[in-house]
Amino acid sequence: MEKDEIRKAVERYCRRNGIEEFRPRAALIDMDGTLIDSMRNHTASWKRLADKLGIQADRDEFYLYEGMTGRATIRLLFRRAKGYEPDDSQCDELYALKASYFNEMPRVPVIPGAKRLLASFMEKGITRVLVTGSRQLSNLDRLDSDFPGAFPHELRITAKDVTRGKPHPEPYLKGMALAGARPCDCMVIENAPLGVESGHASGALTLAAATGPIPLEALAEAGADLVFPSMEALADALEFII
Ligand code: MG
Repeated sequence: MEKDEIRKAVERYCRRNGIEEFRPRAALIDMDGTLIDSMRNHTASWKRLADKLGIQADRDEFYLYEGMTGRATIRLLFRRAKGYEPDDSQCDELYALKASYFNEMPRVPVIPGAKRLLASFMEKGITRVLVTGSRQLSNLDRLDSDFPGAFPHELRITAKDVTRGKPHPEPYLKGMALAGARPCDCMVIENAPLGVESGHASGALTLAAATGPIPLEALAEAGADLVFPSMEALADALEFII
């Protein structure tokens, strides 16, 4: 992406927020599809769960629910197919089954460019906060080995920390509170439309990378300040932004 395009987007963000210049103190970072290439396995395990429950679903539709909590996704499926919503404990039981399907699948690679992105934040002294709708422990546990030192354990928002998941701004607002930063001091890094919507609504500068089948336009429409065709491209642009 052209430097000029990046500069203009940041200027637009500053005008919208009434600030002179953007000086990020914290980066709020999504996990699935942003740091690890896990979405193919997530969509496959959701589809397997739907099949087991006799619920008609299309595997690709689960890309659109990315960012929602597991409970929210399960409620959506039941509402649509059966006309009612299971309670929290039923949802958690079904989510555990979905998580077990995920765990049976091969370990997924890190998204290319993500390590460089994290290294830049660490080098520039920008606080990193993980903000994920996931409770998949196998993924949360591997962050320490994939990104050593990048995500302090006390700076993580997961599905269990929020009452309203993405696209509601609550997850990112809670991430800002953990970092002790104002919205206009923060940048959100996302890959999915619902996550971008959440980041945009939280008031942070929202950067999106298309790392799967979701088109760039969908990320722009969801409210991203800048959309990149890959995490590599986003990492390249970071220099001009911070
Ligand atoms: Mg994601």
